[in-house]
Amino acid sequence: MKNKFKTVLEPFKIKMVEPIKMTTYEERQKYIQEANYNIFCIKAENILIDLLTDSGTGAMSASQWAAMMEGDESYAGCRSYYKMYDAIHELTGFKHIFPTHQGRAAERILFGIVGEEGKIIPNNTHFDTTRANIEYNKTEAVDLVIQEGKSPSINHPFKGNIDLKKLRELFEKHKGTDRIPVCMLTITNNSGGGQPVSMENIRETKKICDEYGIPLFLDACRFAENAYFIKIREPGYENKVIKEIVQEIFSYADGATMSSKKDALVNMGGFLAFNDDDLAQKVQNMEILTEGYPTYGGLSGRDLAALAQGLHEVIEEDYLEYRIKSTQYFGDALIKEGIPVVFPIGGHAVYIDAKKMLPHIKPCEFPGHALACELYLEGGIRACEIGSLMFAKKDPATGEEIPAQMELLRLAIPRRVYTQSHIDYVVEVIHEVNRNKEKIKGYEIVEEPPFLRHFSAKLKPKK
Ligand SMILES: *Cc1c(COP(=O)(O)O)cnc(C)c1O
Repeated sequence: MKNKFKTVLEPFKIKMVEPIKMTTYEERQKYIQEANYNIFCIKAENILIDLLTDSGTGAMSASQWAAMMEGDESYAGCRSYYKMYDAIHELTGFKHIFPTHQGRAAERILFGIVGEEGKIIPNNTHFDTTRANIEYNKTEAVDLVIQEGKSPSINHPFKGNIDLKKLRELFEKHKGTDRIPVCMLTITNNSGGGQPVSMENIRETKKICDEYGIPLFLDACRFAENAYFIKIREPGYENKVIKEIVQEIFSYADGATMSSKKDALVNMGGFLAFNDDDLAQKVQNMEILTEGYPTYGGLSGRDLAALAQGLHEVIEEDYLEYRIKSTQYFGDALIKEGIPVVFPIGGHAVYIDAKKMLPHIKPCEFPGHALACELYLEGGIRACEIGSLMFAKKDPATGEEIPAQMELLRLAIPRRVYTQSHIDYVVEVIHEVNRNKEKIKGYEIVEEPPFLRHFSAKLKPKK
């Protein structure tokens, strides 16, 4: 660690700025009312600090912008594709690399080929687009994260680990049936709070997969953040450079899906990479049918060029130290004031346990959503509810709602966008909201679409 001081220093200086707009409480009341109390429906220009997601919201570097100007827009075999290929190949060793327009396109192509009715695909925790693409192909998506990974208050260095015993049991149960076409492992485990997976767990997962002849694919969206956690938390890795750790991670995998909107430091893109030659033939056909010619896959040449440069930058230790430390700094500031958060603080976001913070609001009145609305009203901050508004299920027999397992509010941190003073401001607003939390009311749904209701449902505060 080069920075021995406790100040979290952004390892960059700013040469281009984008103004953000202060609004008054009264203006925000009007905006949120016009948005029918749905945080997704507020215009971004009326948000002061946007922590809705870390996906595609990062800032590119001067070198990435320069790379974009060098982008080669040839239809086939463009120079930028080979730059991207080299960058990914160097880190992963994979032979076949297909760019896609974003992560879910890589998932759709992979599961469209290996998935079919009766098949089962395990993971530590499937991300929602991963699960949706698997289920769309009538395949069963099974989550096997370790027990510790399911409880917000338990501290564990690698809460994203997959339960190796349960994985082996699943493989054993279906031995010799071809029912499990692939095993997935998500690094870091986004749906489980951005928690990392240890190298030991990845290595052991691969061993079990090999015993049963099942290929291991990584959902590698945050591979660099995961590698940094391995460096600082797993014995034996403290003196390794990040690139070596990343290379070791991928050495245990047969392939990967990736959303470049995360750890490739670009605003759009993804890829599907692996070694299997037969699979490559099938993927190529699907790629041409739905994404485009395989050397651009739904992206411009300049996008591929920026992605290649992003992969070089994301494994720089100064960047990762700042990334993980600044998220930790944010979480620690909330913990100090007694705000209940998910432990330990993950890589890309801080999650507030809204059920614990607002015990007077029942899950069916959406405590996470109520907190999101309050943060917007109080300070113009946008965060994302991950609770019953997003995940409640309807009981098929009674039509009654079964609440989600947890009621969380996720504050995701865009990469290289906000400074420490922005975060200090967010902390101040949350403290203020916490002081007056008894007054916060629950919400009810006025109108909702048949699925993915959190994006467009209309709500109103309870009387
Ligand atoms: C974001 C994400 C995806 C999907 O990627 P998109 O680019 O949003 O399509 C898949 N898996 C994980 C773990 C993610 O975080």
